[in-house]
Amino acid sequence: MSRFFTEELSGLEPYTPGEQPRDMQYIKLNTNESPFPPSEKAVAYAREEAARLLLYPDPTCKALTDKLADYFGVSPENIVVNNGSDETLYFAFMAFCDEKRPAYFPNISYGFYPVFAQINRLPYTEIPLREDFTIDPEDYIGKNGFVVIANPNAPTGIALSLDEIERIVTGNPDGVVVVDEAYVDFGAQSAVSLTKKYDNLLVVQTFSKSRSMAGARLGFGIGDAALIQDLNTIKFSTNPYNINRMTMAAGVGALEDDDYMKENCAAIMATRAWTVAELRKRGFTVLDSAANFIFARHPRIDGKELYLTLKKNGILVRHFDKEALCQYNRITIGAKEQMEALIEAIGRLWEDVL
Ligand code: PMP
Repeated sequence: MSRFFTEELSGLEPYTPGEQPRDMQYIKLNTNESPFPPSEKAVAYAREEAARLLLYPDPTCKALTDKLADYFGVSPENIVVNNGSDETLYFAFMAFCDEKRPAYFPNISYGFYPVFAQINRLPYTEIPLREDFTIDPEDYIGKNGFVVIANPNAPTGIALSLDEIERIVTGNPDGVVVVDEAYVDFGAQSAVSLTKKYDNLLVVQTFSKSRSMAGARLGFGIGDAALIQDLNTIKFSTNPYNINRMTMAAGVGALEDDDYMKENCAAIMATRAWTVAELRKRGFTVLDSAANFIFARHPRIDGKELYLTLKKNGILVRHFDKEALCQYNRITIGAKEQMEALIEAIGRLWEDVL
């Protein structure tokens, strides 16, 4: 730390992204990326747009916003496009959370939420999950602060129903409820339809997972026009050119190639079902996942040891040191062959235990 770093932020603990190692070729099941390439149309549009990189991009992202509005059956005023859903979430903390409306989110959820609160010096409360890692919607009623729920939740993969989400939204009429739907396309119910009914609901989605575009950094928010306007005030006060030309063009291409996205999601869901069954056959406890990852533990294999041994053998999964999570590993659902390799490695490396 330099002697100039502001004292208020000196204790800030930054988010720890999943490893992106370069030392060897891993079967990479640690950052919930898609095993499938982006849509060819997305790549072609981005390539074509590269020739126009001399010009700033459109800060209103009109072409992409119009496409998204069409896709979701809402108006362009209901959409804001950002640099990954991380940026939409960050802007939402800045816009809708303060001393009067503190943040509430589960104690086991996306690790960026407390960081967004801390960097903005915002008060927040982490609400414990139930013993079985589910969210109790009743814990979020009447908070009227700033509620953030990942649905499906991470790293558990467990989803709330649309009714449960609606209960949280109606239970907090005087605070914004953010539903982070980064993984919604893998089997959960989206709350986008509810944004027409409730002016305090912001749904956040991303192109990083189901649309295989984690490297493009493209996310968006859907909500009441006034909420979106507030987020645009933040965007235009920080970085109006937050979406580069190639990313914007790729986003349009990806939306035009919706069948491709749906096929990939279906393949991942089928591979997920296969992987869960194979792990359970071998004695693993696997939480019910509606995401492109699963959260699993074995009663006779230490969680950290599983992670480290798999890593030595060229397979990367995500391990969290937090006490409640350390016996588990979060495993991204990759291509079928990758999951077969994982199951084979587990069978071979823990032959005596299983
Ligand atoms: N929300 C959740 C729950 C996530 O797991 C992630 C991915 N790390 C994000 C948001 C951010 O995704 P992105 O910024 O790539 O859109």
